[in-house]
Amino acid sequence: MTGKGFNAYEMAQTQFDNIAKQLDLDSATCELLRTPLREYHFSVPVKMDDGKTKIFKGFRIQHNDARGPCKGGIRFHPQESADTVRALSMWMTWKCSVVDIPLGGGKGGVICDPHHLSQREQEALCRGWMRQIHRNIGPEVDIPAPDVMTNSQHMLWMLDEYEQMSGGHYPGAITGKPVGMGGSLGRTEATGFGVIFSLREALKDMELAIKNTTAAVQGFGNVGQHAIELYTRYGGKVKAIACWDQQDQTSYTFKKEDGMSLSELKSITDRFGSINKEKAKEKGYEILPGDQWLSQDVDILIPAALENSITAENASLISPDVKIIAEGANGPTTPEADEIINAKNIMVIPDFLANAGGVICSYFEQVQSNMNYFWTKDEVLGKLDDKMTSAFYAVMELSKKRSIPLRDAAYIIAISRVSEACRLRGWV
Ligand code: NAD
Repeated sequence: MTGKGFNAYEMAQTQFDNIAKQLDLDSATCELLRTPLREYHFSVPVKMDDGKTKIFKGFRIQHNDARGPCKGGIRFHPQESADTVRALSMWMTWKCSVVDIPLGGGKGGVICDPHHLSQREQEALCRGWMRQIHRNIGPEVDIPAPDVMTNSQHMLWMLDEYEQMSGGHYPGAITGKPVGMGGSLGRTEATGFGVIFSLREALKDMELAIKNTTAAVQGFGNVGQHAIELYTRYGGKVKAIACWDQQDQTSYTFKKEDGMSLSELKSITDRFGSINKEKAKEKGYEILPGDQWLSQDVDILIPAALENSITAENASLISPDVKIIAEGANGPTTPEADEIINAKNIMVIPDFLANAGGVICSYFEQVQSNMNYFWTKDEVLGKLDDKMTSAFYAVMELSKKRSIPLRDAAYIIAISRVSEACRLRGWV
């Protein structure tokens, strides 16, 4: 969701500047934290199936590693840009910090559209990406993971290339690997489930029973599908889901007033999270313009697609019924939209808290990989629930104490911990 004039990095810096002012951070710390520590920009040549060589632009950006090795996903996306990766790497630093895991923030990407790449070309791209960055990542330096349009197979190809080049086994170098190949049980569900763990606690605080609530979700990929799975398991009803349509190059909202069936929708969804319109129509779904997910009369909105989806232009669409927005995606709400939403008295569980389940479980995967001893799924998800719940309450407590939005409270906790780590190390 690029959007005219939208720049995720400027948004991440604006959010940081606001909190830095509140914390009265000194100018050196501000300068250090509002930009990444290190950036790698490189070209990845790939021999395509037609025999020609295509050059892809790749990135790895390490925002801050004062609290531990950098950690963050790799996106394959046609609209990927250095600024998007910078913003995402910064948000990773705050995310690891707010849930108190000993990792810093990094992010990677490749400008490409995997819809138009064969499996062989994708493998070549993954291996080529790793050859360019091999020296600058590793279990003690920076640990990549999957993100938008990348999955466990991509991670395994990258890890294999890393291990071939390093001459040993380093399963802690990448997370999001397939289960049985160093992956952790529960990692696939972790981000979506984590969103719902934090939503569950927010609803408790509002004294609302989750089984009496309704929701609309944007995005039907990894995060969206698993959030819906746990939310409906807890008894909530999803009335609308929006996703991208590759053929029409636009998004649509799929609606069923009496609630949607996750398994039915999954059976007509491709591997990129796009629901087939014709089949959905046959199954009785109403199909509306893409941003209509926002205007549904529901209690909860879950943006789980991309950044810049709730803006000053469309925030007025949000129904007065909405009580909570749980941000599954990274950066879905612009600072201008945030002001409108705060004025409507809607609680926003900010992205870097709500969607931290993925990185928490990635951290668990790394711990298990390094020990070469793996936990059961219940053990993983139980530990995840504990971490998410305690982080949520720490943020909620500060928010109540200072009468500030959850986003500001989460930023204050996260930025204070990172700036303190920089100070203790003697960097500032
Ligand atoms: P995904 O590629 O599996 O799914 C993305 C979904 O968003 C798809 O259903 C797609 O159709 C939809 N989408 C894309 N553009 C859209 C648009 N303009 N309007 C409506 N829908 C649109 O990605 P994912 O892994 O589910 O990640 C989703 C978001 O969550 C991203 O912001 C990502 O950075 C963030 N996130 C993911 C993880 C993770 O573990 N996967 C962890 C933390 C944060």
